Amino acid sequence: EVQYKASSLFLDEGATKDQFISRSNLISHETAHMWFGDLVTMKWFNDVWMKEVFANFMADKVTEKLMGTSTFDLKFLQDHYPAAYGIDRTRGANPIRQQLDNLQEAGSMYGNIIYHKAPIMMRQLEQLMGEENFQNGIREYLNSYAYGNATWNDLISILNKFSSTDLLAWNRVWVNQPGRPVFQYKIIYNGNKIKQFRITQQAESGDDRVWPQAFKVKAFYSNTSKEVTVNMKGKSVDMDQFIGMEKPEFILFNSDGKGYGIFPFQQISLDSIIKRGNALERASAYINAYENVLSENSLTPLALLSLYSKGLMVEENEMNLRLLTGYISNLYWTFLSKNERDKYNPLLEAQLWEAMEKQVLPNHKKVLFTGYQNVYLSQAATANIHKIWKSKSAPSGVKLTEDDFTAMALSLALRTDTVNSVLQ
Ligand SMILES: [Zn+2]
Repeated sequence: EVQYKASSLFLDEGATKDQFISRSNLISHETAHMWFGDLVTMKWFNDVWMKEVFANFMADKVTEKLMGTSTFDLKFLQDHYPAAYGIDRTRGANPIRQQLDNLQEAGSMYGNIIYHKAPIMMRQLEQLMGEENFQNGIREYLNSYAYGNATWNDLISILNKFSSTDLLAWNRVWVNQPGRPVFQYKIIYNGNKIKQFRITQQAESGDDRVWPQAFKVKAFYSNTSKEVTVNMKGKSVDMDQFIGMEKPEFILFNSDGKGYGIFPFQQISLDSIIKRGNALERASAYINAYENVLSENSLTPLALLSLYSKGLMVEENEMNLRLLTGYISNLYWTFLSKNERDKYNPLLEAQLWEAMEKQVLPNHKKVLFTGYQNVYLSQAATANIHKIWKSKSAPSGVKLTEDDFTAMALSLALRTDTVNSVLQ
């Protein structure tokens, strides 16, 4: 039996495209449970995540068709990777699959790893096996365990028969253990031509593990580019497709955003990708830059903040604007010292305001106005926000709701010297 909330199923005339997509997603998710959950049920509660991940995986297939692959890929990247990395980069990260001895602790298993790393793992699993092998494996699994119970390991042993990769080893690293790999590369040139291009991976934690996975690498030239799929099954892979090619201007690793881990990053290439990459490539580069800064590989938080601010000026994608303003506010409040913050603040306020004025679409303007409200500190900016709040007149082209004005009052109240005038 499936029960739906009427308002998400019976949409009114003014329903947006997003609402139609959510409705299809919801129906697909619940329908998928007839196979994953009902026809085959988990053996014990440590595998409850399995049916949810499968239902989301199937629903995503429908969403991808409705949204178009490029929008879907961008949304998938932004929905899942930063949240999964947020846990997986820490020492206390949990694996996707955990032991559950006491049912009372079932609730503690649910978190960003199950909600966000598991979907990434599923997509990599399908890529690794190939769509057809994956489908055949799932069919055999459903037939073998119909009207019965099965564990995740039962599924993996069946899929393993359809895979050319050792899925048991794959499963140990991706599902039974936490963590992620760090990728490095080395190019040897012969004159101006590539003689060897090797990518290697190692565990961020330093132990001896590899994450078999596929992702793309794109080399940019002055007016062309070459993108190649990397099928990384072991510690290293030679990118023979690039042999003999000229030295590129810059290289974007994980250009399709499907790879999981920390990829090589150069300050100069982020600058160029902001100008030359598509929306998915830019998002992948923004996310990877942030992970590099946090793992202290190269850039300082302040340097990344200024790169992101430049991105604001040219970024044309709403999802990417949200990602950037989120990262900016995070770097600004969490990673800058008070001195750095005070020093950088006037420029950042000015950049956010200028970017907001430059954007044409109301939604884009609003994302940037919210970004401005998240970081403002100066007296001039405080007076500016106070005036907008008091007169209830939004900046030109920005639509503000009653809730937005309430949030503005809160942000003003948090700036001490205005607290009295707002609360009066
Ligand atoms: Zn469900």
